[in-house]
Amino acid sequence: MFDESLTHLVEDLIETMKSDIICIGLAAPQVGISLQVAVVCPDRDFSNVKVLINPTNITESGKKDIKRESCMSLPDLGGNVERRKRLSVDVRTLAGETATLQFEGFEARAVAHELDHLSGTMYSDKADALVTLDFDAIRSKLAG
Ligand SMILES: [Zn+2]
Repeated sequence: MFDESLTHLVEDLIETMKSDIICIGLAAPQVGISLQVAVVCPDRDFSNVKVLINPTNITESGKKDIKRESCMSLPDLGGNVERRKRLSVDVRTLAGETATLQFEGFEARAVAHELDHLSGTMYSDKADALVTLDFDAIRSKLAG
């Protein structure tokens, strides 16, 4: 698995994420690829993209927090989801090595959302209710 095709998949996911201003994470199953691979980057300068390959030992801790999430796979919808503020996960790097990554706050939420995709769960399965959003209006606002 740890070969050039995996590197290309990760690069494609990052490019797709970067191509949409409201996209802060993307999982391979969202683009029709059944692999345990996702990318996350809440910072819009993309200086610190996190690559999650074959995640295991997902541990959520800290205080519970409820915030609105939305998803590229469910356009123009959002919903409040309860998650914990810290997340630890073991992943493989592109070189096939094992690494433990720790996240907090918004980044932990974004990672948890993408890890859910890898197990076939959508945020909408966890949200109390869904509201209608205008993704294009949000894009315009973010683009300034
Ligand atoms: Zn999503």
